[in-house]
Amino acid sequence: MLRKLFAIILLFTGAVSNQHCSRNPSSNSKDYDIVILNGRVINPESKLDAIRNVGIKGGSVQTITEKPITGKTLIDASDLVVAPGFIDMHQHGQDQENYTYKVLDGVTTVLELEMGTADVDKWYNNREGKALINHGVSVGHVPLRMRIMGDPGGFAPVADAVYKMASDSEIVLLKKGIEQGLSRGALGVGFGLMYTPAATKWEILEMFRIAGKHKVPCYVHMRYGGLKEPNSCIAALEEVISASAITGAPLHVVHITSLGFEYTPRLLQMIKEANSQGIDISAECYPYSATQTTIESAVYDEGWQESFGITYSDLQWAETGERLTAESFAKYRKTGGMVIAHSIPEDVVKSTIADSTVIIASDGMLTKGKGHPRGTGTFARVLGKYVREEKLLTLAEGLRKITLMPAQRLEKIAPVMKNKGRIREGADADITIFDPKKIIDQATYEEPAKYSKGISYVLVNGTVVVNNGKLQENIFPGRPVRGTIK
Ligand SMILES: [Zn+2]
Repeated sequence: MLRKLFAIILLFTGAVSNQHCSRNPSSNSKDYDIVILNGRVINPESKLDAIRNVGIKGGSVQTITEKPITGKTLIDASDLVVAPGFIDMHQHGQDQENYTYKVLDGVTTVLELEMGTADVDKWYNNREGKALINHGVSVGHVPLRMRIMGDPGGFAPVADAVYKMASDSEIVLLKKGIEQGLSRGALGVGFGLMYTPAATKWEILEMFRIAGKHKVPCYVHMRYGGLKEPNSCIAALEEVISASAITGAPLHVVHITSLGFEYTPRLLQMIKEANSQGIDISAECYPYSATQTTIESAVYDEGWQESFGITYSDLQWAETGERLTAESFAKYRKTGGMVIAHSIPEDVVKSTIADSTVIIASDGMLTKGKGHPRGTGTFARVLGKYVREEKLLTLAEGLRKITLMPAQRLEKIAPVMKNKGRIREGADADITIFDPKKIIDQATYEEPAKYSKGISYVLVNGTVVVNNGKLQENIFPGRPVRGTIK
């Protein structure tokens, strides 16, 4: 109704609004569905960075041209950047609340790859026709171990899946579960080794063997974090590089700064050296100096202070924002919940973001407005704080890390990703249009549920889901990102 009214106003004034995308009353059937006019189009794949008009029809980009074009819906992108929609390879929150914050942070595709799921069909079915943005999942070693061992935990295991060694027959069941998940189009295999310390190195190797057989990536939260030998982040990375070399499974190391701390440059050196030996390894980081996970998980088992080089006052309770003491730590470890740890040096955050081989991904999860700000502000923070304000990297390079790089990492297993992460003819019309002078995150550790600023328009598969900074209600154009179903 509003749209009709707006079209009528346009007819009377003859004006084209530069405020909202608007119906063009004089278009005819040969025109595009949507045209984005006079924007600065940046495509990290071709290195195009120029003022262009973009024509969209049937959910895909049909033209990128200097010539005038017309369409049924017009978006004036003067002074704005027109980029491929951002891709988040590490997003745990996979519901409408989270999708809303993601899309206002410019994200059009969110993937749960680290933890994954034990039931791939159910995961995709639950979101079919109900998702604001594109979404996908891996088959997860952690949830499978929880299911097979009857662990009552939630996001992370708390009982046998943490502390019990798997029997040979349980390892057979785990392998079967991974095979089955991959046959249902899972995007690889997820691991949270720190959450399952009783999983032996042999058990993990057995899981990698399945991934190696299918040539699909293993997404790994490493077994140890920090600097203390023998259980250091160096040893943790050696374990999975070795598993990748032995089995041929590609490896993706998640949130490398949150386990590497000041040793992160050493981890990145190890990855580059392994790459130069022909081993397929990638890594990601988030642009924050604090971590977040569940306090009742094995991450906070005895010895965490020494391992991570922090103490109680470096911990912040996500629910209230309060800093912890020995007393409140003990209390919350019994009740359970999310805890934030201020443990990553800022110079490590910066050098890792600036490293040309590292993908940016959020590790985000907001629960009823509570959580870590990375879940809501990661992408605007990279483009606002680290690109514009601190000039750590160029805008094109910042965009490459949140569009093309994740798309390339996934495209072998999910061919649909060949048409995402790029803005070119034939690409899916997942497009984020933002103001490079205004884009910035607003979310803080105390108030994570704050939308980023400066995201003007977002299109998902050719549907406008953010219009002049406003979320459009009750539209669900998100599609599954899924591997081949066998
Ligand atoms: Zn993790």
